Amino acid sequence: MKKMFSLIVLFLFLLSLASAQRRGQVPTERYSDQLTTELNQLMQAALASDYAYKQTAYLCNNIGPRLSGSPQANAAAEYVAAEMRKLGLEAKLEKVMVPHWVRGVETGELVEYKGQAKGTTQKVVLTALGGSVATPKDGITAEVVVVENYDQLEALGREKVAGKIVLYNAKFDRQLAASGRGLEAYSQAVAYRGTGASRAAKLGAVAALNRSAGGAEYRLAHTGSLFYLPDAPKIPGAGIAAEDAELIAYLASQGTVKLHLTLTPQTLPDEVSYNVVADLKGSENPEQVVIVSGHLDSWDLGTGAIDDASGVAAAMQTANLIKQLGFKPKRTIRVIAWMNEENGLMGGRTYAEDHKAEIANHIAAIESDLGASHPLGFHAHATPAALAKLRPASTILQSIGAGLIDVANGSPEADISPLDALGVPTFGLWQDSRTYFDYHHTTADTLDKIVPRELAENAAVMAVLAYAIANLPEPLARK
Ligand SMILES: [Zn+2]
Repeated sequence: MKKMFSLIVLFLFLLSLASAQRRGQVPTERYSDQLTTELNQLMQAALASDYAYKQTAYLCNNIGPRLSGSPQANAAAEYVAAEMRKLGLEAKLEKVMVPHWVRGVETGELVEYKGQAKGTTQKVVLTALGGSVATPKDGITAEVVVVENYDQLEALGREKVAGKIVLYNAKFDRQLAASGRGLEAYSQAVAYRGTGASRAAKLGAVAALNRSAGGAEYRLAHTGSLFYLPDAPKIPGAGIAAEDAELIAYLASQGTVKLHLTLTPQTLPDEVSYNVVADLKGSENPEQVVIVSGHLDSWDLGTGAIDDASGVAAAMQTANLIKQLGFKPKRTIRVIAWMNEENGLMGGRTYAEDHKAEIANHIAAIESDLGASHPLGFHAHATPAALAKLRPASTILQSIGAGLIDVANGSPEADISPLDALGVPTFGLWQDSRTYFDYHHTTADTLDKIVPRELAENAAVMAVLAYAIANLPEPLARK
């Protein structure tokens, strides 16, 4: 524990060194006294307020899971728009066509393995991946072949894979996550969730399982999208709890293991849904827009608290605080609750398309979609000149431990990536990611995982960053 702590301290120290170096490259901006005062007031007001927590609680507990195409997703859009109107914002529901995938039955049991007591089976914990096709209604029974990576799969070849269920037993790197590199650990593990089914299908497999892309060891199955490659047959795909991946690997090392797998999801026709777009109009340059956002849709297993009701709530809180304090941003602060981040990104794509003509006036896009734990600062995909203008805001945030700027190579978040591709500077809140992937995309993504104080800190970061960008003398430089 102590060693882990000192590693984290060292990591943060090195990061701050790197950021200090970058700071030296460009002249630092100085904000007006009024802006500095207002930013400090915003930060303090965010810390003292439970608005973001209450909004998160409503979305999660009163509305519930919000998978794209579900009645709850659209109810959530109506709710957020109404809340924004209550604050006096101009709120619109902008139409987005979204995929409508529904989960059905999902069961797995081991029906043959060495040492099996007569007449028994062993249940395993698994969950269908978003977008997966179904097995026949009564399921399939097939031998499981275990691999740790794609090289091992290819080495087995068609002869040993055809007719079988492939289990990708790729471990989520818990040490990497524990050192604050949760996103990197996730990126490594998720490779098998994304296209594992298609790559197995190319060799004749009848289904694919991926060891859950997440860190907790509470026998949780993690869902998430799979992507079928156009040149492979579509076979069912499921995420399986780490413990059960271990169980199968253990038994498979002793002999034949057969799994009875039943998955009955359905892909229904696309549904009409919405992005919520709510404007707090700028006093001097209302045509210039600074986006604060999170995504409103969630997976259906939990209630989408850390992914991503908390992000939406932080964006709502930005508008709420500015209104409560009576501040007048020069540029428009636009609150967006994106639809369909999880299984299609149609909200982000449709917005960029529908607002193509106004993209030059999009000054920045900010999103929070890495949970609600303590923020370290923000990830930024912007020019060094633009970042220099944000140093004073970052310095203000240092007092709550959120003063770091991480320079990203691409869009820091998914929904704003279509805007990023059009040259808009993009920012993502940078949360402590040590526990995020324990709960992410599981039944355990629920309100209790959020620490109110930490969510308030996130809202403070979003509000300070957005308000600073909205009030700089000149718009941020484009990329
Ligand atoms: Zn998310």
